[in-house]
Amino acid sequence: MLKTIQVLEKIQKIDLEIIAVEEEKKRYASEIKGMTEELAVARQALDSMAAEVEGIRSQVRAVDDRIGQNSAKVEKDEKRLNDIKNTKELNALTKEISGANKSRKLGEQEKASLNARVDEKAGVLNGKEEAFKAKSSELERLTRAVEEKTPEWQEAVEKNTRLRDEIKAGIRPEILKKYETIRAKRGGQGIALVKNETCQGCYIHIPPQVYIILKRGADELMFCPHCHRILYVETPGPVEAV
Ligand SMILES: [Zn+2]
Repeated sequence: MLKTIQVLEKIQKIDLEIIAVEEEKKRYASEIKGMTEELAVARQALDSMAAEVEGIRSQVRAVDDRIGQNSAKVEKDEKRLNDIKNTKELNALTKEISGANKSRKLGEQEKASLNARVDEKAGVLNGKEEAFKAKSSELERLTRAVEEKTPEWQEAVEKNTRLRDEIKAGIRPEILKKYETIRAKRGGQGIALVKNETCQGCYIHIPPQVYIILKRGADELMFCPHCHRILYVETPGPVEAV
């Protein structure tokens, strides 16, 4: 069984390396996906904020037009003052002028308060746009990293798969199958080292008699009674044929 266990150890090492590559790929992919989604949401929020700022700016333009109209009216009416013929006309025109002046002043107040809102919102928007740009660069960096790493990942998986195929010829197919079944159920780890009578797969104590058999060199595969992984020890008994 010793040779079998040694082959399984090698296979497991290879399998864990393959898993590590797959997990690294997945980590990158999920980070990219999350960031892309986050950026899409942020883009929408920024666009609607920009539209809001634009809306206030167009209000400012409308108010500006009103101020201009009132100014023009005041100017025109003031010129007409010279042509006034009686008190009644004078009173009426003075009232017109003061009304237009009042409207202009109100317009200017409104414009100032709208401009203050524009400044405030545009400031916030700029800050958010900067953050958006930084995040976009981060996404580009990640995407490039994946492009660079993809050939390395592929090569590592292919190399390990080839090596695995060579090595697995050294054990009986049913043993490999057993290992595969356990591995699939146990987070990619099909065999576990026993140290101080403890399974290093589940960290639970194994019965002393199992440990004794393992140390002596078992004739058959020994399994952890708790996690069911194939057990092995670092200093087994005499070498046996598979
Ligand atoms: Zn265990």
